[in-house]
Amino acid sequence: MAIGNEGLLLAPAVLQPHDLRDAWRMKHKLGDESLYISGGTLLRTRWETGAAPIPRYLIDLRSIKGLTGVSMTANHIAIGALSPLSDCRNNALLQRVAPALHEALRSIAAPSVRNLATIGGNVVSGAGDALPALLIYDAELVWFDGRHAAAEPAEDWLRRLKYRSAPEDRILTEIRLRAVDAVGQSGGDGLRKFEAYRKVGRREAFTPSLVTVALSATVDRDGRFTDIRIAAGGGSATPQRLAAAEALLRETILSELTYGSLYMAVYEEYEACPDAFASADYRKKTAGNLVVSEIWSAFAQ
Ligand SMILES: Cc1cc2nc3c(=O)[nH]c(=O)nc-3n(C[C@H](O)[C@H](O)[C@H](O)COP(=O)(O)OP(=O)(O)OC[C@H]3O[C@@H](n4cnc5c(N)ncnc54)[C@H](O)[C@@H]3O)c2cc1C
Repeated sequence: MAIGNEGLLLAPAVLQPHDLRDAWRMKHKLGDESLYISGGTLLRTRWETGAAPIPRYLIDLRSIKGLTGVSMTANHIAIGALSPLSDCRNNALLQRVAPALHEALRSIAAPSVRNLATIGGNVVSGAGDALPALLIYDAELVWFDGRHAAAEPAEDWLRRLKYRSAPEDRILTEIRLRAVDAVGQSGGDGLRKFEAYRKVGRREAFTPSLVTVALSATVDRDGRFTDIRIAAGGGSATPQRLAAAEALLRETILSELTYGSLYMAVYEEYEACPDAFASADYRKKTAGNLVVSEIWSAFAQ
């Protein structure tokens, strides 16, 4: 049974497991009376606003070693789920190979929050501003389910999340990005590559998002899009890849692209979520405009 928010002074017991199995056993023994916690920045906001009750027990994942840091293998770049956003943002490898993610991290909260907040917490929230950027790197989420750690495409997890009411009870241990070459203006092979991340909020900086878009694209010497990924999110919307907008670009030569049809493809496909600050229609239009303006700025001038 959770404690009501009137009991803010009744601090929950904080448990510090030594390893993943230990954490998992605690969660399964304590059930709904407990929550995993990483940086605690999102949970604290929910408790303070009364959006969620404070549980009786917090299982602090920061006590488990080996869940932080960024490394590269032949197949992917691995980011430990407990890595603070500030560490990810300052990581030289991520800056080089994942500029859209770097920009997304820059736009989240303020430095003091980013020092505590983890990338795993941002992902598990299901609506974090890092998610659209992660989607354009075909990110996989590695979950510990009590016995094994297994990878699952972030896109699949997000798709199922829309229809899931129970909170995630697995532990996110790692986020994997497909290994990509550093993004350049124009390679010797005649390929033009580009990546971008844009966030629109209610004010210029330190703001929750209304709309976020992330894009990556490559155009060959004949003006064909050979590689295109577009994702959108923002507010409480579940971030998604925009497959129809991607297909439109894949089938089009740059010189024949009509920006109106790209705008409409994004507008029709993006499932925005309205709230007290902006309608779904406004968010869909903004997503369309952001995608069009980024593609136009990158390739059409
Ligand atoms: C002032 C302020 C501004 C903010 N601005 C933004 C913003 O601009 N954009 C944005 O996206 N967010 C923002 N946030 C929200 C939050 O800071 C981030 O989403 C952050 O990355 C959450 O990470 P955390 O480690 O603090 O998560 P926590 O609060 O510890 O946890 C969040 C959720 O994830 C679960 N969880 C955490 N880690 C794991 C794990 N490894 N495995 C399984 N479950 C886990 C928890 O049980 C909880 O349900 C803001 C927060 C504050 C306080």
